[in-house]
Amino acid sequence: MAQETAEYAQPLTVLAEDEAIFRDSVREFAEAQVRPLVREMDEHAKFPRTLIDQLFDLGVMGIEIPETYGGAGARFFHSVLAVEELSRVDPSVGVLVDVQNTLVINALLRWGNEEIKRRYLPKMSASLVGAYALSEAGSGSDAFALSSRARENGDSYVLNGRKLWITNGNEADLFIVFATVNPEAGYRGITAFLVERGFPGFTVGKKEDKLGIRASSTCELILEECRVPKSNVLGEVGKGYKVAIETLNEGRIGIGAQMLGLAKGALEHAVKYTKERKQFGKAIGEFQGVQFQLARAAVEVEAARLSVYNAARLRDAGRPFLTEAAICKILSSEVAESVSSLAVNLFGGNGFVKEYPVEKLFRDAKIGQIYEGTSNLQLQTIAKQLLG
Ligand SMILES: Cc1cc2nc3c(=O)[nH]c(=O)nc-3n(C[C@H](O)[C@H](O)[C@H](O)COP(=O)(O)OP(=O)(O)OC[C@H]3O[C@@H](n4cnc5c(N)ncnc54)[C@H](O)[C@@H]3O)c2cc1C
Repeated sequence: MAQETAEYAQPLTVLAEDEAIFRDSVREFAEAQVRPLVREMDEHAKFPRTLIDQLFDLGVMGIEIPETYGGAGARFFHSVLAVEELSRVDPSVGVLVDVQNTLVINALLRWGNEEIKRRYLPKMSASLVGAYALSEAGSGSDAFALSSRARENGDSYVLNGRKLWITNGNEADLFIVFATVNPEAGYRGITAFLVERGFPGFTVGKKEDKLGIRASSTCELILEECRVPKSNVLGEVGKGYKVAIETLNEGRIGIGAQMLGLAKGALEHAVKYTKERKQFGKAIGEFQGVQFQLARAAVEVEAARLSVYNAARLRDAGRPFLTEAAICKILSSEVAESVSSLAVNLFGGNGFVKEYPVEKLFRDAKIGQIYEGTSNLQLQTIAKQLLG
């Protein structure tokens, strides 16, 4: 018999009281404020600024920022819950919040000195959207082959180059831009710079016209003799690769949460529809063939949930989580694709038209296997761990 004093680890899916209250408030917001806008935002490929302001008011744009800087003072796990709940309704809103928290704020908290934190974190808690600019036309999976250059000049660096695929490019006022101070030094030349939208020589270029997550802006950034004060170097000169690796390792869990939310949303739509749609004199959900498909989808969603929550809780516990993060991203993005595809099938013809919500989720699912490290790159991480 267990001793009375024995301590048990909590089940992964049991939420602490503050987590449950937070999750419920985000879910309520997503249903009331996001749901009515989903189709319009997808069609116009744009978020209304009022929605972004509401996200700040809700407290989901500065989740891990300590209260002393005006943030919510919560944990990484709360970010995962927020991204999951928002993505259940609209994965575009999910990724806006994800990049803000798991990449930009995360990097500022970990690598920013006190002066940088005081300068930017209160604004990021209140109204400032951030973006994370690593990729270029010639460097995607091979991110450290980037060619953007930073040249030292007095008390500044002068940046030249082009960044591609930058999420939040249209909404952001602060960009973490990775450039090299010395191409000969390879990855050891890479440095992270905090670039404000208004810095001379910085422009946001073309916005991509995408298959999915259309409301989320994905933009090119152009740096032409862009002057960045030395005080805006994030972390150390030549240590940008560490900033990138460490933030992306965690950001990946956020993408897992985005894909988990998407899959849950798609399954909920499918369950509701199959209870209502009648063929052969009864609801299609009464056919065992359909029931088994839904049950199989529920199995997949639960597996994804466990793996995302485990990776996030490992991170908050200060334990190693690299492999678990890669596993949760690959699993959740595959589950999102298969469950949203099933939802389209179960909606029949209605699954193929924009009047119903599932074709959008099917389109949105595809990105999970591409950004923040493609599925092949996740497999590479997992294999490295397996084979030593
Ligand atoms: C909507 C969207 C938003 C994005 N947001 C951001 C952002 O905010 N910030 C940012 O910096 N970037 C962002 N990206 C860029 C994204 O991270 C890259 O697209 C991604 O890392 C893949 O790089 P790539 O497109 O150059 O593909 P490539 O690297 O050219 O890969 C093409 C294919 O080759 C495979 N491949 C490559 N190398 C290997 C290998 N060694 N072994 C096996 N297979 C391999 C890949 O898995 C993939 O299937 C975004 C992209 C999109 C589409």
